[in-house]
Amino acid sequence: MRLQGKVALISGGSRGMGAFEADLFLKEGAKVVVGDVREDEGRSLVQSIAGDGGDAVFVRLDVTSEEDWQAAVNEAVSRYGKLDILVNNAGVSARGSIEETTVEDWDRVMNINAKGVFLGTRYAIPEMRKAGGGSIINISSQLGLVGMKESGAPYQSSKGAVRLFTKSAAIQYASEGIRVNSVHPGPIATPMTEARRSDPAVREVMLSRIPLGRYGESEDVAYGVLYLASDESSFVTGSELVIDGGWTAQ
Ligand code: NAD
Repeated sequence: MRLQGKVALISGGSRGMGAFEADLFLKEGAKVVVGDVREDEGRSLVQSIAGDGGDAVFVRLDVTSEEDWQAAVNEAVSRYGKLDILVNNAGVSARGSIEETTVEDWDRVMNINAKGVFLGTRYAIPEMRKAGGGSIINISSQLGLVGMKESGAPYQSSKGAVRLFTKSAAIQYASEGIRVNSVHPGPIATPMTEARRSDPAVREVMLSRIPLGRYGESEDVAYGVLYLASDESSFVTGSELVIDGGWTAQ
């Protein structure tokens, strides 16, 4: 098993890609803390993948809250003894032109997508140091690498921030064996994209930009995240793993 004996915390793990990763990590031998604001979904996910008292637990985590991060990291350490892996996966999307974007829209998206990654990293690092190292995987987007008219500036800016935050953190903590990498998924079939995927016009535009000709599935991303979480990637830090069906290759 590729994560045997490791302890992982996944933000935004109640549904979508994070939920798939929680299940995969568990199957690969990790103990998993799932943190999310969606409490019912998160609790039933943990119940279905691990059962009562199993190797996974749900904690309510709003990634914009320092107190919630402290509690989530404490839960990992008090329940499972340490923290080896953090997946900063929680995120929200945004659309609309810059003129249509309010200050509230901007702050909300930047707080969840960018500040949330900073806070998670900030509170995970001391525990990873105690564990002798760790792996932090920050979920950015292909839209953190290139622009797209149909996406919103707050989303793209937040995902660009995640990309460079990752490199900053990677350099700061490499000497302590803490690796930090970003993952850049293209369009993936998750609840986040459900409404727009079912609009034939939007679907056509999106598919025309994906050389592999389909939306990705959560597992397409999860196996990349698994690689970065595992010791197989022990010489990889500050890198950007693009899993976008070829979107950014054109
Ligand atoms: P999703 O909406 O299905 O799941 C996201 C999860 O994040 C939800 O469970 C939600 O409750 C949680 N979340 C939102 N705000 C939160 C907060 N303040 N605190 C804690 N949890 C919060 O989305 P997904 O498609 O699985 O996306 C996962 C990540 O991948 C996101 O960062 C997203 O931006 C990124 N991404 C998605 C796609 C895509 O096409 N689906 C593409 C590129 C990047």
